[in-house]
Amino acid sequence: MAGAMNNVWRLMIHGGCGGMRPGSLDPAADSAGRAGLSAALDAGAAILSAGGDALDAVEAAARVLEDDPAFNAGRGSVLAFDGHVELDAAIMDGCTRDAGAVAGVRTTRAPISLARTVMELSHHVLLSFEGADQFAREHGLEQVDNNWFVTDERRRQLEELLAHGGDGFDADVKYGTIGAVAVDVQGHVAAATSTGGLTAKRWGRIGDSPLIGAGTYADDRSAAVSATGSGEFFIRAAAAHEVGARIRLGGEGLQAAVDAVLADVAALGGTGGLIAVAPSGEAAWGFTTPGMYRGVAGPDERSVAIYDAVSER
Ligand code: ASP
Repeated sequence: MAGAMNNVWRLMIHGGCGGMRPGSLDPAADSAGRAGLSAALDAGAAILSAGGDALDAVEAAARVLEDDPAFNAGRGSVLAFDGHVELDAAIMDGCTRDAGAVAGVRTTRAPISLARTVMELSHHVLLSFEGADQFAREHGLEQVDNNWFVTDERRRQLEELLAHGGDGFDADVKYGTIGAVAVDVQGHVAAATSTGGLTAKRWGRIGDSPLIGAGTYADDRSAAVSATGSGEFFIRAAAAHEVGARIRLGGEGLQAAVDAVLADVAALGGTGGLIAVAPSGEAAWGFTTPGMYRGVAGPDERSVAIYDAVSER
């Protein structure tokens, strides 16, 4: 369904959810998080306010967050069990329902742009591991050494987890992932999600983020959605697609659909967050962890937040 020109544009982003409460982050981490969210909103809003495409906006916003070491995506990603970074990303265009995704990428600097390249220049939706990086090289996407993604803090987190004999599910996990959803003035929606996944993941574990319908989905008939949280549960709930299905088939409102899907994920035993925008320009978010890095921008609003809504007031 093509939207009319002069719709209200809207951009919503997340930088992952977790146990963040007022006072639990040191002031430097709090401001780094807010500055990163703000820079990502700037990048996407510049495109949308000039009449640009939702797809370009979500890619631009996601790239800023991927490059920012404060977030678990691109540079600053959590480390897998073997000490390497393995990156997952997906992008989807709600107008055409074209989608592209990558999993287990190790050398491509901007996984979200690689996902878009898969969408636009291959016949496939999801490429993985060495093949995905090879596809990136063949299409001239910037390559970096895997160490470029690694920060001291993420190495310390891996060592601490391994010292306690845990894996990513045992710890008091601070989930992380970044995502962006947007609607442009044409009324088209798009979604992007990018992540390093879970600390100490192994055996080629892939979460919900790069799975179309689980962590990422966009459909002009309903909404664009990006998830963060315990990915296995979001996969089982087909969470991002379920938000759209509740709207399209069940006639639910955007916020009601987001809340219902988070409740469904919780009923399975998972926690996390969702952001969503509709072709009408409406935005919604929710999370079942104490906090979620998030931001929203539109012609009439702009804000970033980390903690629960009451603390952020
Ligand atoms: N959902 C992501 C995954 O399972 C992780 C996260 O959002 O923290 O890979």
